[in-house]
Amino acid sequence: MKSYDKTLNSFEQTEQFAADVAGQVTAPCSIALQGDLGAGKTTFARGFLQALGHKGKVKSPTYTIIEPYILADLYINHFDLYRLGDPDELELMGADEMFNEHSINLIEWPEQGEGWLPAMDLWLKIKHLEQGRHFSLVAGSDKGQAILSKLGK
Ligand code: ADP
Ligand code: MG
Repeated sequence: MKSYDKTLNSFEQTEQFAADVAGQVTAPCSIALQGDLGAGKTTFARGFLQALGHKGKVKSPTYTIIEPYILADLYINHFDLYRLGDPDELELMGADEMFNEHSINLIEWPEQGEGWLPAMDLWLKIKHLEQGRHFSLVAGSDKGQAILSKLGK
């Protein structure tokens, strides 16, 4: 399976899609969220986190860059690299420790961390449509490929 594609017409559908993906993900896993401002990256992260038990708000960590969540036995880190000056700043923030065998990482604006970020298991590419959004989930590793296959069933 090359990619798993969906056209979704509301933020509720985006959250449900994120919950479906979350249901197939185990740590370690890194997911890049790509798309323009307002595409739905944070909406996806919110649905993903809430599906795994987070209660309350999920905002893009635009200024803090990294927002860590601990949910039961899961470590989920939500990155928003939009305002990152240089990929090496991630090192100074201790981000390398956040990519470990127990963590799931959701990364908005991964382009900004290129050269420093480890390999992604999944790439979610979001495109604005006249109505709604098109989502294309592409694997970057065997693990990502296995997740795609499960979603396709
Ligand atoms: P980003 O993090 O990519 O900048 P956000 O998730 O913060 O984007 O904002 C996306 C906006 O689009 C929100 O207003 C959200 O309610 C809306 N939205 C999310 N998914 C969809 C969808 N599938 N169809 C229409 N609107 C959507
Ligand atoms: Mg965002």
